Amino acid sequence: MAFNLELGKTVTYPGRTCRTSPANSGSAGPVEIILGGFSYRSNDLDLWSKSTFRALVLPGGLLLFFTAVLAQSGSIALPAPSLSFLSCCALAGGMLLAWRFHTTRIFLALVMVYLSQQAVELFALAHKRVSVGSGIAALGVLIPLNFILVGLMEERGFTFSNISPPLMLISMQAVFVAVLVGGTDAPPVTARHAASVALPKYAYAAFAAAGLLLLARSLRSRKPADSALFWSLAACFLSLDFYPSVRISALYALAALSILAISIVETSYLFAFHDELTGLPSRRAFNDALRRLEAPYSIAVVDIDHFKSFNDTYGHNVGDQVLRLVACKLARVTGGGHAYRCGGEEFTILFPGKPTAEVAPHLEQLRHAIQTTQFHMRGSDRRQAPRGPERRSNGARSHTRKAAAIRQLAQSTTTEAISVTVSIGVASCLSGVAQTEAVLQAADKALYRAKANGRNRIEITASRRRSGGAKAAGIA
Ligand code: GH3
Ligand code: MG
Ligand code: MG
Repeated sequence: MAFNLELGKTVTYPGRTCRTSPANSGSAGPVEIILGGFSYRSNDLDLWSKSTFRALVLPGGLLLFFTAVLAQSGSIALPAPSLSFLSCCALAGGMLLAWRFHTTRIFLALVMVYLSQQAVELFALAHKRVSVGSGIAALGVLIPLNFILVGLMEERGFTFSNISPPLMLISMQAVFVAVLVGGTDAPPVTARHAASVALPKYAYAAFAAAGLLLLARSLRSRKPADSALFWSLAACFLSLDFYPSVRISALYALAALSILAISIVETSYLFAFHDELTGLPSRRAFNDALRRLEAPYSIAVVDIDHFKSFNDTYGHNVGDQVLRLVACKLARVTGGGHAYRCGGEEFTILFPGKPTAEVAPHLEQLRHAIQTTQFHMRGSDRRQAPRGPERRSNGARSHTRKAAAIRQLAQSTTTEAISVTVSIGVASCLSGVAQTEAVLQAADKALYRAKANGRNRIEITASRRRSGGAKAAGIA
């Protein structure tokens, strides 16, 4: 969701109003707002970035694409019973993973997709005795409805009390469909007649509505579970649409189940290699990348200045939002850099193939972008009293000038722009076997110098050889 924000204007967004301050507008970068713990970014929320596209399309979209190619080319020689057996395996594996990784939503989606596929296979087998048309029509509405419900569900943990009500609902729907197709007085249907059974128009509309909702959710969250729900819904639609071709239908159902099961593996990979708060790759990913580095390369260590005071003044929640916004800037560093959150409010940027001289302008641009990014907060959103030792000493003098300035802003009732700054230490390895530990230490030392020299600056230590002499240079 992106919207334009002009300085000096009043902006209302879901029930909250914020006046953007013309103060500091001379050097203003993009305007950031933080209200009640939520952040709205004027130009950082890019729905169509490469990473959003990747998160949406991989692996669900790719898997469905290959399934469609297989189905259309007719190169899949497996008979329907074998496909059903594979579906059972995907269901069992997915349910086991869902239970181990506490993902209720995927568990429910797996059950629902599997039951609907069983119903489709039953319709095909018993088309002479049951009312196939009403069964397909019922599934055409119930499947998207269930996907909408699962898509909107909050993940509350895999407990019996959480899982049993939705499972009951799914069971009731299964009974309803069974009664609907079996309890009609419809005349027996010939095989030719059964082949003409098609999804009604309202089922197309239901699938389209559910698809749009799940797509929007997936683009917003970029979570594997949300994109899996979207692609699984698409596979279910194709599975129903290809009725009465049971083999193709079973192939798409297998794809739907596999997409759901694989999303659990994807989610656990993300947890292992990404930081949940900022979405940046985590220390584990950083260590992994370090092992693969080859000279020349540069490492930059980035630390937010006076962040403890910021937290003490505005509270941890607002601090978290600021961390996310800073991470957003870091993720967009130019010059081929890759940003990682290595812990707390410290970040690292790796520049493979780049000596310090080449990365310095990009880091300076980054430092400047963070410094000029304004955070706007209303008085009511701010912490009323400072936290920690300052609260205990009841108004004791601040130990830093910056903390005093931040507190002054917090006490004012008007909306004012504040910003945070970062200090950056950089070191590089230009040739020889990469000794990443030494380079990292050199970057850390450079960061200490940047702090000691007044913060909001970049200090560079250029390592000429793997453990050779170091040359320090500073950029204000
Ligand atoms: P300096 O300029 O010397 O870096 O000062 P500083 O106050 O930033 O000092 P330091 O880097 O040691 O402070 C780290 C602070 O970062 C402590 C803690 O309050 C805050 N912090 C660490 N992790 C998180 C987090 O996940 N969320 C929030 N809100 N704050 C965090
Ligand atoms: Mg700090
Ligand atoms: Mg720190």
